[in-house]
Amino acid sequence: MAEKTYQDRLIEESLWLRTAGPAPQFAALDGDARCDVAVIGGGLLGLSTALHLAEGGASVVVLEAAEPGWGSGGRNGGQVNPGLKIDPGEAVRRFGEDRGEALVAFAGAVADETFATVRRCGIDCDASQHGWLQLAHTDRALPALERRAEEWRARGVAVETLAAGRVAEFAGSEAYAGGILNPHGGTVQPLKLVHGLAQAAAARGAAIHARSPVERLARESGRTVLVTPHGRVTAERVLVATNAYTGPLVPGLRRDLLPVSTFQVASEPLPPHLAETILPGGHHVSDTHRSLYYFRKDAEGRFVIGGRGAYAARGMDGAYAELRQVAARIFPAIADVRWEHRWGGLVGVTEDHLPHIAEPAPGVLAAVGFNGRGVALGVALGPHLARRLSGGPEQAMPLPVGRLAPIRLHGIKVAALPWAAGFYGLLDRLDGGRVV
Ligand SMILES: Cc1cc2nc3c(=O)[nH]c(=O)nc-3n(C[C@H](O)[C@H](O)[C@H](O)COP(=O)(O)OP(=O)(O)OC[C@H]3O[C@@H](n4cnc5c(N)ncnc54)[C@H](O)[C@@H]3O)c2cc1C
Repeated sequence: MAEKTYQDRLIEESLWLRTAGPAPQFAALDGDARCDVAVIGGGLLGLSTALHLAEGGASVVVLEAAEPGWGSGGRNGGQVNPGLKIDPGEAVRRFGEDRGEALVAFAGAVADETFATVRRCGIDCDASQHGWLQLAHTDRALPALERRAEEWRARGVAVETLAAGRVAEFAGSEAYAGGILNPHGGTVQPLKLVHGLAQAAAARGAAIHARSPVERLARESGRTVLVTPHGRVTAERVLVATNAYTGPLVPGLRRDLLPVSTFQVASEPLPPHLAETILPGGHHVSDTHRSLYYFRKDAEGRFVIGGRGAYAARGMDGAYAELRQVAARIFPAIADVRWEHRWGGLVGVTEDHLPHIAEPAPGVLAAVGFNGRGVALGVALGPHLARRLSGGPEQAMPLPVGRLAPIRLHGIKVAALPWAAGFYGLLDRLDGGRVV
């Protein structure tokens, strides 16, 4: 058995692993196979694309290095959030009126699309759609949120602006200066979602292989050959869906994004007096700190909080301790609960804050860089990538299919990430809010 990596150890005490139930079993690739499309990576994006390809009648093989959901797909906060990291107006400035508005319309609908896929495929993943609160950690952070809400309202999305008093009612905390509520956001148990997508794709004919890392790509007679330790797949077309866990397989792809660490802790199921006051309406939250915090309750009423601080520098125990302290600052009554789960993973961050879709080699499409928004974006991009991989036009894609854009000084920037996070944390503390 292979030695455990740091990323393996990070999920040993994951809430999602412990509450997902038995994982669907998929054999490793053994021998040769042929298919229309091979998908590298059994996360949300890879499996959603495989599902839609199989529904369209294509033969599909998914190759996952570990188990489906081992990557961010099964580790995340389960926040199904609409929109991009950039605001609608900024998207239109960058892409022009037509393509920009089409992108905004797509991004505004990704949460609804994700829940529709969950319902259509009958996936049991504790899905709930009570709305997403984005909360301002200081008065100065409020105008940007208000502008965001206005920009969405101008496009017919009912994003509400909330004064501090309303936020206190919705969140059950007085730590925030105000915020906005997007009613389309919701939550899932993310590992159950990945398992459900894998089962739905397999039921429609996709061949899924776990423990099958793609070690090499070769071009033979106009097709791509994917080589794993015990087999080979010959494919007409390939999707690379490895996001923050991208390795050296496709030259340049890893340099397209920065792998940023993020960690979470989860409490015991909250006693009724706390469950009734903390997020009483089932909303979930992300806030405006530069090193942002995000939190929710799960289906059994556990409080789950995550953050992106200077954790790699401080070590795992320091990261988890800080999250527990932050939780107690937001909700002082939570200080005495038992914390039972802790885990973490990597978020793929791009310099322009947008996902990147590229064709790095003939017949090979790659989509990475979800900037912490890949739950809804990953699932909702699936049908679009499936159409493109089946010969659909580039113009119909929500995001342009471009070239890889390797980040300058990538190695130095990756090495500097813990210190950059520490610097952002310092700026957050200087802001003087009530949370850090
Ligand atoms: C702790 C945490 C919290 C987060 N919270 C949220 C949230 O609440 N909401 C949100 O929208 N987003 C969140 N994110 C981000 C979100 O999880 C990702 O954007 C999303 O999972 C990306 O999906 P993916 O399918 O592209 O990649 P992944 O789900 O990471 O899947 C990639 C897979 O590729 C596999 N792989 C890599 N190399 C190879 C190879 N050579 N051969 C075969 N397989 C390979 C990996 O094993 C991995 O399983 C969070 C991320 C983390 C880590």
